[in-house]
Amino acid sequence: MLDVLTQKVHDESRQGEAYAPFINDPAQYQKKFYIESYGCQMNFSDSEIVASILYNTGFGATRNAEEADLVLLNTCSIREKAEQTVRKRLTEFRKIKSAKPGLLVGVLGCMAERIKSKLLEEEQLVDIVVGPDAYRSLPGLIEEAEGGQKAVNVLLSREETYADISPVRLNSNGVSGFVSIMRGCNNMCTFCVVPFTRGRERSRNAFSIIKECRDLFDRGYKEVTLLGQNVDSYYFTPEATDNNAGNGAVTFASLLEMVAQISPLLRVRFSTSHPKDITDDVLYVIKKYENICKYIHLPVQSGSTRILQMMNRTYTREWYMAKIDRIREIIPGCGISSDIIAGFCTETEEDHRDTLSLMEYSGYDLSYMFFYSERPGTLAQRRYKDDIPETVKKRRLQEIVDLQNRLSRQSNEKDLGKIFEVLIEGNSKKSDQDWMGRTSQNKVIVFSKKSAGCNKGDYVKVKVTDCTKATLLGELL
Ligand code: SAM
Ligand code: SF4
Repeated sequence: MLDVLTQKVHDESRQGEAYAPFINDPAQYQKKFYIESYGCQMNFSDSEIVASILYNTGFGATRNAEEADLVLLNTCSIREKAEQTVRKRLTEFRKIKSAKPGLLVGVLGCMAERIKSKLLEEEQLVDIVVGPDAYRSLPGLIEEAEGGQKAVNVLLSREETYADISPVRLNSNGVSGFVSIMRGCNNMCTFCVVPFTRGRERSRNAFSIIKECRDLFDRGYKEVTLLGQNVDSYYFTPEATDNNAGNGAVTFASLLEMVAQISPLLRVRFSTSHPKDITDDVLYVIKKYENICKYIHLPVQSGSTRILQMMNRTYTREWYMAKIDRIREIIPGCGISSDIIAGFCTETEEDHRDTLSLMEYSGYDLSYMFFYSERPGTLAQRRYKDDIPETVKKRRLQEIVDLQNRLSRQSNEKDLGKIFEVLIEGNSKKSDQDWMGRTSQNKVIVFSKKSAGCNKGDYVKVKVTDCTKATLLGELL
């Protein structure tokens, strides 16, 4: 299966992840919920909000679906494969349900709106369907479903940001936390289902974001990642009722600065930037603060201006290249990664070669690579024919992946002999004798623990001694 296949991928490796039970939780819960998350980091972050809502309703978490009273799947619609995976999981849960009739099964997130009637009525796979803006209504919906009715709320909102809900961080490493700063998207890229499943863009109250980041830092976290579909269009105007009103509108550049000022020991990351919206102001703030990581995820999608126009990305190939130049000029050594789609409608071999040459020009450290998957209801589905044969899409994707592997290796080789400040995230996957951490540029680095002197969450200096295409290997100094 050719869908994101290089190095990393954090998100992909977490697909279907289930929550651990609450650690050190004194409460004895009457009921238990089990939740699996799919898709992007926003969805994983949403599951933490859902966990918080359920926690306050008297549910405790379990990692074992068979002992749960409520099973939830937080779903993704971005590509067809993501939806198929969830459907398959739902049929597996139906089997558990037939042995335990009281069990409630619910679908949350992006698939909720798209296929609610199919899931509820035609296939009778689920009892509860809740869209991304309706999680506050979950307790009421559970009650309805317990009474034997099908419970649905897929209304999208123009205001909901869950600003006041403190997410329960169940599966965190205790070092890095994700903080949602906005919801929805107004961009209307023609291939993308997000504006339909997650609704209009809205920015969360800046002061609640700062509070959440400060709380994380006070609890020992050393890194926050600010999340949104298009973080650079973050814009918040304090109301007269806000304690901090009078300071004027908060842009993404000013928000970033406010978070960076919490403590120099708190690293700040963000995702995702849209090339059309990232400003020099943001780049200068990144440069100014040591603790803002020198890493930008700047999805290009295609290297062909003609395809970019059909995708409604609102920039050209040349404009994107100038943005890369600007980043490299203002923040030398900045890590840059991308998302790339192979085989969008009408894509020619020449368009494809444009993508390869733009990747080469940008010298990405990492890319998330996909072949185009037509999504019902999107502008592309209505306007264009999905006319590139699957074999061609996959061959082009493989060429993109091969090139990225070479670029990643080259990028890692350039780091040989250099010394980086690394935040230790925990044991390496392969050995508990080694630490795994990240550089500011978001590269994973593995190094021997040597002495017992350091711990998870520490900043250490590490010299790069070797590398693979995916990982740096180093020596603790
Ligand atoms: N908002 C972010 C942006 O604009 O870069 C990311 C949104 S989406 C969750 C993540 C990536 O999925 C996109 O950047 C795109 O490369 C990919 N994607 C979205 N729709 C797709 C589709 N229909 N087929 C294949 N890949 C798709
Ligand atoms: Fe989708 Fe484009 Fe919005 Fe990203 S910016 S979520 S790709 S519509």
